[in-house]
Amino acid sequence: MTTTSYAIALGSNRPGRHGSPRAEIRAALAELGDVRAVSPIIVTAPVGPSIRAFANAAALVDSPLDPPAMLARLKAIERAFGRRRGQRWGARVIDLDIVLWSGGAWRSPGLVVPHIAYAARAFVLHPLAAIAADWRDPRDGRRVRHLRHGVDRRRPRP
Ligand code: ATP
Ligand code: CA
Ligand code: CA
Repeated sequence: MTTTSYAIALGSNRPGRHGSPRAEIRAALAELGDVRAVSPIIVTAPVGPSIRAFANAAALVDSPLDPPAMLARLKAIERAFGRRRGQRWGARVIDLDIVLWSGGAWRSPGLVVPHIAYAARAFVLHPLAAIAADWRDPRDGRRVRHLRHGVDRRRPRP
């Protein structure tokens, strides 16, 4: 069976049964299977009483699954962690997205790879650049390190 690689983005902004968002990310990493590399976990601390802490990370996972089967696996993990439907953009214990796949681009109902928004998201590109800086976007050949510099230029950090 041919093994392919996936770049998976992990996010959490709500404590769950494993603990803090960071603990939820660590627990999800343990469920991902054949993990070849893990980025540091980036935590954005809450800046006010009502704003939640965010934790984000990226992982490289080797798998023979095709993208729809991989997505089904990720959704099963999300469900097992207590994520409910209708929580898009809201608080959730865990969010697992397929960012890149070594097989290139993929499009099927409910699934687009590369992830449609990753190239504009610092919270995805920073962790991803720590483990896959040279991975090229199959659509335009730009490397992750280049995309990361792009978001940093547009949105300078203090
Ligand atoms: P965003 O997609 O902007 O990061 P989100 O992760 O909060 O938002 P979800 O509610 O988790 O959005 O997912 C909505 C749907 O996106 C999923 O049900 C899934 O079918 C679809 N989807 C399309 N492409 C992907 C991908 N590359 N990785 C994960 N889900 C995807
Ligand atoms: Ca997401
Ligand atoms: Ca998602």
